[in-house]
Amino acid sequence: MSKQILSSWGRVNQYEVETLALTSRFDDLSAADAGKTMLPYGNGRSYGDSCLNAGGTALQCRSLSHFIDFDPATGILICEAGVLLAEILEMVVPQGWFLAVTPGTRFVTVGGAIANDVHGKNHHVTGTFGCHVRRFELLRSSGEHLLCAPDSNADYFAASIGGLGLTGVITWAELQLRRIRSPWIDAETIRYTSLDEFFALSAQSDRDYEYTVSWVDCAGKGKSLGRGLFVRGNHAAVNPDQLYRPKTQTFPAVAPVSLVNALTLKAFNTLYYHKQIGKVSRQIQHYQPFFYPLDGLLEWNRLYGPRGFYQYQCVLPSQYGRAAVAELLQEIAASGMGSFLAVLKLCGDMQSPGMLSFPLPGVSLALDFPNRGADLHRLFTRLDSIVSTANGRLYPAKDGRMPGQLFRSGYPGWQGFSAYLDPRFSSSFWRRVVEDI
Ligand SMILES: Cc1cc2nc3c(=O)[nH]c(=O)nc-3n(C[C@H](O)[C@H](O)[C@H](O)COP(=O)(O)OP(=O)(O)OC[C@H]3O[C@@H](n4cnc5c(N)ncnc54)[C@H](O)[C@@H]3O)c2cc1C
Repeated sequence: MSKQILSSWGRVNQYEVETLALTSRFDDLSAADAGKTMLPYGNGRSYGDSCLNAGGTALQCRSLSHFIDFDPATGILICEAGVLLAEILEMVVPQGWFLAVTPGTRFVTVGGAIANDVHGKNHHVTGTFGCHVRRFELLRSSGEHLLCAPDSNADYFAASIGGLGLTGVITWAELQLRRIRSPWIDAETIRYTSLDEFFALSAQSDRDYEYTVSWVDCAGKGKSLGRGLFVRGNHAAVNPDQLYRPKTQTFPAVAPVSLVNALTLKAFNTLYYHKQIGKVSRQIQHYQPFFYPLDGLLEWNRLYGPRGFYQYQCVLPSQYGRAAVAELLQEIAASGMGSFLAVLKLCGDMQSPGMLSFPLPGVSLALDFPNRGADLHRLFTRLDSIVSTANGRLYPAKDGRMPGQLFRSGYPGWQGFSAYLDPRFSSSFWRRVVEDI
């Protein structure tokens, strides 16, 4: 056991904790300090405090890194929960398989992907990561190893998918992968001029394209409000006659101040919106830049400077989504805050298996904000009120500040979920959102 400052991806939340590396899926948790609460820590790719437990013990799960079994005939993979999605892809893509669901970075662990029940660009057809988990093992602080599946400890299965690491440690999991014929994506980018066009493009594309997502210009006002670039794609049937040479760079150091400000934001967004000459651009793209454009610049979170940044991701039910997104974008553009990266996506109606899973049928908006202190928090309060009026909710994986009331109204299942909490597990996030009643 050692002491360490642990941080999450946004770098606003950093706490000193005791760390205990789990070295085997056969371990129990008796080596953890009996006087402290515990929380599993994957690869720290959550943005706020959901993967942190100030003053407690972080159970480091990256060291649960073994593959257990893979059947190339069925695409069923069993691996320990600290394996990264990147490591899975490296092994299975050459054998014609791919993850059924992937988030926008491949540097997350299987345990982290289950505990946040992550979603990706194909949510409208395949739902969340948890929809493709066949079973897993949950290690409780009592030393009990529970096998969880839809027909075995089904309540712990549902509580732990999207369960924010609070029900115990997932030691290994069995996943169903999907077949692909090549590692390439047949991709198209379409420039759109308004939210109406975004919704029309989504409705039309969601029928024929497995992957859809869009970048929206969060600095656009007036006639430019709601303009952006719509990206859609399918797995390509054949390998193009070209090799893929990955280009990865590392952001050199924490910038002395945030490099994202009102001037750089407006200039970047205008240039980015006009980056392609025609309205539509088509290309065959390797899966890495298509799914993980940000992974090409390692440690890009440093560009926000020493104060770090927040992400704000909400999902709004279909009937109120169009109007609420317009209101959110108006508030953000008027504030001059926001980031280069603003993502708008329709979520589908496939039910997540998890009790606290984030997506619901409707539209999701996500964007980063450099940490500007009180001004930013005032903007968040205005955004929260729009989300709450539209019966929407915020994503705990991206959150470091939502008021408890907003969490509890967005996730009415939280009280039922509480019955499955491991009595020795807790997180800074959980205490923040349930203890201010
Ligand atoms: C660039 C970027 C893009 C992203 N894009 C998306 C996206 O498109 N969609 C999306 O849904 N998310 C997205 N995310 C968020 C990210 O996918 C999730 O936060 C993910 O859960 C992080 O996994 P991790 O392994 O880093 O876990 P951590 O962040 O370390 O932990 C996440 C949660 O999992 C729990 N946990 C970790 N390991 C275990 C275990 N073995 N057993 C039980 N609980 C465990 C932790 O306690 C915590 O509650 C993105 C993040 C980044 C940085």
